Amino acid sequence: MESSGENIKVVIIGGVACGPKTASRLKRLMPEAEVTLIDKSATISYGACGLPYYVESLFDDVMVLNETPVGIRRTPQFFEAVKGFKVLTRVEAISIDRSERKVRVKHLDTGKEEDLYYDKLVIATGAEPLRPPIPGIDKSRVWTVRNLEDAVFIRNAIEKEGCKKAVVVGGGYIGLEMAEALKIKGLDVSIVEMCDHVLPQMLDKEIALLVQKHLVEKGVKLFVEEKLEAIEGDDYVKAVRTNKRMIDTDMVVFSVGVKPRDELARKAGLACHEKGGIIVNHFCQTSDPNIYAGGDCVVNSYIYPYLGAPVYTPLGSIANKHGRIIANHITGLVTPFMGVLETTICKVFDLTVGRVGITEEMARNLNLDVETAIWAGPDKPHYMGGKPIIIKMIAQKRYRKLIGVEIVGTGDVSKRLDVAATSMFFGATVDQIAYLDLGYAPPYSPPLDPIMTTAHVLLNKMNNIAKSLNPLEAYRWMKEKRDIILLDVRTPQEFSESGFKDERVIHIPLGQLRQRASELSKDKDILTFCKVSMRGYEAQRILNAQGFERVWFIEGGLVAWPFE
Ligand code: FAD
Repeated sequence: MESSGENIKVVIIGGVACGPKTASRLKRLMPEAEVTLIDKSATISYGACGLPYYVESLFDDVMVLNETPVGIRRTPQFFEAVKGFKVLTRVEAISIDRSERKVRVKHLDTGKEEDLYYDKLVIATGAEPLRPPIPGIDKSRVWTVRNLEDAVFIRNAIEKEGCKKAVVVGGGYIGLEMAEALKIKGLDVSIVEMCDHVLPQMLDKEIALLVQKHLVEKGVKLFVEEKLEAIEGDDYVKAVRTNKRMIDTDMVVFSVGVKPRDELARKAGLACHEKGGIIVNHFCQTSDPNIYAGGDCVVNSYIYPYLGAPVYTPLGSIANKHGRIIANHITGLVTPFMGVLETTICKVFDLTVGRVGITEEMARNLNLDVETAIWAGPDKPHYMGGKPIIIKMIAQKRYRKLIGVEIVGTGDVSKRLDVAATSMFFGATVDQIAYLDLGYAPPYSPPLDPIMTTAHVLLNKMNNIAKSLNPLEAYRWMKEKRDIILLDVRTPQEFSESGFKDERVIHIPLGQLRQRASELSKDKDILTFCKVSMRGYEAQRILNAQGFERVWFIEGGLVAWPFE
């Protein structure tokens, strides 16, 4: 231990996730430490991640988000009595004097200022939602969603003021969660997203298009590749103007990202990243070893530096880990923070959407040599009610390492995402993932779990056994009107029910392909497919064995096909 803790004074600025986590662990490890946590807000330690679910009315008292699992409010008195540290709310830190080791604070209700002296200081000031300087942004009923008040305003506007239409600006995960909440409340919801697909920081386009398809099926109006130009109305918002249209609305929810609150640190001369965010080491120490920082106000690095650095990852999961690392280090426990993989998961109506590591687009921008594979199929056997999931894996070819996974589906995405995240955390190769020893029983998974089967497809591609096109490439080939054959190898029954409406489609059920292969031309490119492309892959192998060289299967088949 660095100090007995007897006289150590620790001041923590910020009381939502990282701050209270640090303080609580610190008092458990070092009961004699004198810990004071301050926050400029009135309410601390709440689950901001639950705000969309309050808006959709999953529960009616927003203060549930401020309760322990057994229903006790996490008030300053609670923290003092149960955890043993002091909490000052409505108190803002206005400057840090590093040479004197003191923080100047202002009591917002009285205007009184005082100095708090520290031996160790923790900055956990979080992040602030971006509000771009768009004409009309200051009109009434234009919100961001960050704290309890924001969510209460939004819900009141619906339930008490009769708002019927909403525009969500930004198709990131919080934007989509809010769009779902507002739709469930019965509003006419539009999303305006500047990029060419939703979840642009999280997913490659062909996976994001599956999410878009689902949003549209659920009645959300989606305007991608559209830039918000102005918010119209008098006092209250009445419409938004994009570069392509006007959209009438009663409210606007901005969800275009957050920026780290690093001003205090900057003013105190601590090293910060040029794009924002306090720079910290593996123990969350800033450039001043007596000052720590964690949560949304810092920049992180990837566990594997070649995946790019630094990375801004404003996630509650990470803020809590930082809190623990900081408390450990203050007490002398050496537990380095290994870095992030940006593991993110969210619910979009019936879909679960997850991502770990980097996308193919990011990998290509980093000039990494990548191979990818998309797999689609049920999360457990069909006779147990399996539901579809679609997995995209991205590997670095040279080292055969998994560097990214994207998963979407109505089945159990979360289990596969966490297996992928754990494997990546320990630096697994695709070969290792292909033979993981995972639990199997029909209620939970097929004998070979989808995460392993996806690795098999990827290995088959890396070993030149499988040749395939991802849906975007296949779509491009089809659009370019190449003289191709779209070989549907499903059963006659499946063929009669759905499929591509395209005159280049030839239907030969897989069981007849060996006999009827001569009906196909070896001079044409052949794209094989079925429902999920297991049979599509088999067809590719059968045709290869008969001397057809220009054969590719469409990855993920019709289930992963994101177009009409
Ligand atoms: P914050 O939560 O930003 O808290 C910082 C606190 O510091 C604030 O209370 C602020 O008032 C206080 N403060 C700032 N400056 C000062 C000052 N000068 N003096 C005194 N006090 C100050 N993350 C996930 O991992 N999964 C999710 O599903 C998820 N969903 C989310 C959904 C929504 C709608 C939102 C808004 C966030 C979600 N997040 C999610 C992100 C997660 O909530 C944040 O990453 C987490 O709250 C960050 O915690 P923090 O302690 O770093 O900072």
